[in-house]
Amino acid sequence: MNCIHPSPDEPGFATAEMLYIDPDACVDCGACVSACPVGAIGPDTRLTENQLPFIELNAAFYPKREGKLPPTSKLAPVLEAPKVNPRAGDPLTVAIVGSGPAAMYAADELLTQRGVRVNVFEKLPTPYGLVRAGVAPDHQSTKRITRLFDRMTRQTGFTFFLNVEVGKHLTHAELLEHHHAVLYAVGAPNDRRLDIDGMDLANTATATEVVAWFNGHPDFVGLPVDLSHERVVIVGNGNVALDVARILTADPDTLARTDIADHALAALRRSKVQEVVIAARRGPAQSAFTLPELIGLTSACDVVLDAADHDLVIRDLAHESDPLTRNKLEILSKLPTVSATSAPHTRPRIRLAYQLTPRRIVGQGRVAGIEFGVTGTDEHRTVAAGMVLTSIGYRGKAIPALPFDEDAAVVPNAGGRVLDNGVPVPGAYVAGWIKRGPTGFIGTNKSCAAETVHNLVEDYNRGQLGDRVHKPGALDKLVRGRRPAVVDAAGWRAIDAAEIARGGEDRPRDKFTRVDDMLAAAATAPKPTVGQRLLSALGR
Ligand code: NAP
Repeated sequence: MNCIHPSPDEPGFATAEMLYIDPDACVDCGACVSACPVGAIGPDTRLTENQLPFIELNAAFYPKREGKLPPTSKLAPVLEAPKVNPRAGDPLTVAIVGSGPAAMYAADELLTQRGVRVNVFEKLPTPYGLVRAGVAPDHQSTKRITRLFDRMTRQTGFTFFLNVEVGKHLTHAELLEHHHAVLYAVGAPNDRRLDIDGMDLANTATATEVVAWFNGHPDFVGLPVDLSHERVVIVGNGNVALDVARILTADPDTLARTDIADHALAALRRSKVQEVVIAARRGPAQSAFTLPELIGLTSACDVVLDAADHDLVIRDLAHESDPLTRNKLEILSKLPTVSATSAPHTRPRIRLAYQLTPRRIVGQGRVAGIEFGVTGTDEHRTVAAGMVLTSIGYRGKAIPALPFDEDAAVVPNAGGRVLDNGVPVPGAYVAGWIKRGPTGFIGTNKSCAAETVHNLVEDYNRGQLGDRVHKPGALDKLVRGRRPAVVDAAGWRAIDAAEIARGGEDRPRDKFTRVDDMLAAAATAPKPTVGQRLLSALGR
């Protein structure tokens, strides 16, 4: 109906923080409501009180257009993959490494074409990357995208090799012998580290480690998170900082109805934290969080500003012309201000603080506070805290056998084709954060993966991807020989069903956080017969 904007062919599509529905073009057909995999679209009459600001934001996107559709630019056409020209007896077969959103969108894009086969390799026994281990547990509607991913895994030609680590159990060269191409969608598994004194003190960590901890990632179950103090400071004010601040100040009884890990819920029930300070080095207009996330934060939590920071907001508002940033500043300007003499607060709150450049973490053996320089001045300020978390972004990690750009922390590429000193590396592709860096939302990976798949198929059609060395069934044998505990799609479904059953009536699921428990659940899946294994190896 051309009612949702910006559309993929309009300016700003790739960077849009939210989509807008044109009230004149919308005919209330409801198609978008049922199609949206994360339930992000709903009729205005059914919005909760917290969601009401979106009505105004949507209306504000259209008024100057006088009922006409926004101007459409044809600068960024949607990149559909060219039709695959299959080689007789040797259908296009692609290994995808990683199983997060970029990997799943790439698999789905490839499988839109008949006969194509996709093998997805994942180091953990459970798939879906940051959707499982990165999206905050109080954002269950976002996690619903996994239902769409589960549907993708049921398509003909899709095979999961979970609990298999490429680089450890299989090499890149071995994968290439069994596939025409290897597409890495491994994300950005490391954190950017803040290089200041005191980062080695007890009770310092990165926000992304804490996210993995409360999401039950098996590698972070033992993270020492001590919440027996009153204040946590988070350095950086991106969406990850907001996620962590929300969870640390949320009512544990509310979190108990999510899929938060049991160990995290127990720690949060014992928590003495009364305030989480989110400290940004620049001003309010440069806040890294997005508008929808700010609305989510301010409607769900007690969020306050110091009087001096409130003044900064008003200063920025007077000069700001960008409408999205103005929206953010207007919301910030309405936040309550607090001072040292304010009445004590009754429930944990979040304080947004600005112009604070981290200098060093202070304390003996463990964190006692953090010293900031007041940005643009010679002044400094120490904020007392029992825990300091840095939330200054993710960082990509080098992939064995592929070139790596240390500065940008991505694999050098052109449109997803891996480049070594500007020359394409035959059969190697990237998508998602390892391709473009750690920015954007789950949906951003759809167009990112589509571009890579477009180029991969083009290379295959031009004969630039070598034939596979081995017969189709040989891969299964190789993987099972190297990694007998490989988990397939049926194994994942058994883990999934067991977690949902453990969750009972009150929780969407109760996650396994130990790999052994995941494998035990996977082992209850019905084993495929030899005939089914053969047919699956042949892609039928
Ligand atoms: P981010 O958005 O890149 O924010 C990084 C923050 O760290 C910024 O405030 C930045 O400040 C600050 N920073 C960087 N270097 C610093 C330094 N040396 N000292 C002090 N501060 C420093 O990163 P993120 O929060 O990790 O998010 C990563 C991506 O995931 C983003 O695209 C985000 O939108 C996305 N994400 C989305 C959601 C969601 O949609 N719900 C949830 C989580 C994450 P400057 O701006 O001054 O550099």
